[in-house]
Amino acid sequence: MTIPFLDLQKINAQYADEIKEAVNRVIDSGWYILGKELEAFEHEFANYCGTKFCIGVANGLDALILILRAYNFPAMSEIIVPANTYIASILSISANNLKPILVEPNINTYNIDPDLIESKITEKTKAIMIVHLYGRVVEMDKILLLAKKYNLKVIEDSAQAHGAIYKGKRTGNLGDASGFSFYPGKNLGCLGDGGAITTNDAELAESLKALRNYGSQVKYENLYKGVNSRLDEVQASVLRVKLKYLDKENKKRREIAKYYLENIHNNKIILPQISDPESHVWHLFTIRTKEREQLQKFLLDKGIQTIIHYPIPPHKQGAYKEINNLSLPITEQIHKEILSLPISPVISMNDINRVIESLNS
Ligand SMILES: *Cc1c(COP(=O)(O)O)cnc(C)c1O
Repeated sequence: MTIPFLDLQKINAQYADEIKEAVNRVIDSGWYILGKELEAFEHEFANYCGTKFCIGVANGLDALILILRAYNFPAMSEIIVPANTYIASILSISANNLKPILVEPNINTYNIDPDLIESKITEKTKAIMIVHLYGRVVEMDKILLLAKKYNLKVIEDSAQAHGAIYKGKRTGNLGDASGFSFYPGKNLGCLGDGGAITTNDAELAESLKALRNYGSQVKYENLYKGVNSRLDEVQASVLRVKLKYLDKENKKRREIAKYYLENIHNNKIILPQISDPESHVWHLFTIRTKEREQLQKFLLDKGIQTIIHYPIPPHKQGAYKEINNLSLPITEQIHKEILSLPISPVISMNDINRVIESLNS
């Protein structure tokens, strides 16, 4: 029997009755866009993150694009971003005619190295976009101090880290504004595309509510050149169900990660490191090895699916030819060596033990 990398069917089957009830409620209501379910979800998710506002949007990429658009930075302003992130963070910057300034990660945390940021700040820098990669929260203190010193906005890409905690505060509430994705495979996932923005800034929230809806606050009056990027009622109703179980699911992921960390013993494999258990929600459990391709094949032969997050760094992508010649050795090393093991709230102990035995052999 193959061990799937992620069994979404099994995850959602746990809540099938409740989800069907929620979707039926929407069907029967006759109201499908910008209604009561979205309003309730926005309220509940803001509460969960500890922020004053939440604005539902169509997906995680749009969440980041719209945050940057709402700030209205001058064209070609510079936005600092980790070099090893998923391409979406960087696309959101380019989409606004802004310039991504790539900063290397720390090889132990895989998150942006706070010590490498200051030397990249120029007159044109307007914001630092941090990414809680793989579900591990970024250590914010130094970054917040730099932002204060240089008057920069801090934008979180929280697409992989719903519920992770830094010094008592959750992601979404660690900077000026945060983008979330509810893509089905994320820790909080819906049954299609979905996303949200959280913030404590009332003015920003107000403009985001208009921007996602054709730039309109009053129907047929358009204040901004907005877009159509809304979280629909069906997805909002599903998310309201799944949000109730997010902490439970993250706890399960932490237990599995702990078990992997205690039981994988192989000196060719580098395991992820953490200090505070609450700081990680284990969207992905990533290991590193010099023999990544061989290991992936070996595991597949044993019926274990793994995925590489990510095989090509953004600065080596065809979409970014203008920066293909950048040298970012830590980022490039991570992309060559990284491999994600199966982890999810529904993976069985039996399967976890099979993964561990295979890795140890
Ligand atoms: C998934 C993801 C996004 C984009 O989310 P979508 O909903 O797929 O648009 C952005 N950033 C990171 C780090 C992600 O993992």
